[in-house]
Amino acid sequence: MDKDRYRQAVRLFSLLSHPVRLRIVDELRRGEACVCHLQAILKRPQPYISQQLRVLREAGVIEGRKRGLYVYYRLIDEQVERLLLETLGPAGEPSPLPLCACPRCHDEAESLPLPGGSVAAEVR
Ligand SMILES: [Zn+2]
Repeated sequence: MDKDRYRQAVRLFSLLSHPVRLRIVDELRRGEACVCHLQAILKRPQPYISQQLRVLREAGVIEGRKRGLYVYYRLIDEQVERLLLETLGPAGEPSPLPLCACPRCHDEAESLPLPGGSVAAEVR
């Protein structure tokens, strides 16, 4: 085993050895979510969630894309997805949050991927 692979593994495990980041990636494997959504689930202040999202994004585990007023994050790392499946089991169903204001919670159709990034939320 060469040193680089150990280094990569250490990086990955330390990334996930964090309760909030682990819960974020667990939530994101169920589907895209915006910061306010994760904030409502994790009950942490938004700057804190954003900080953890940035760490995950810089590591290439998640990516964000802007739609209207919201940035949606999703899991893009298949290795992380497999690890979560091994350790936590299958991803649960995404559940809308009554107190969250994002389109994912209020209109499921609007949070489906739209080609060209068209913004349904602007119409309202
Ligand atoms: Zn939401």
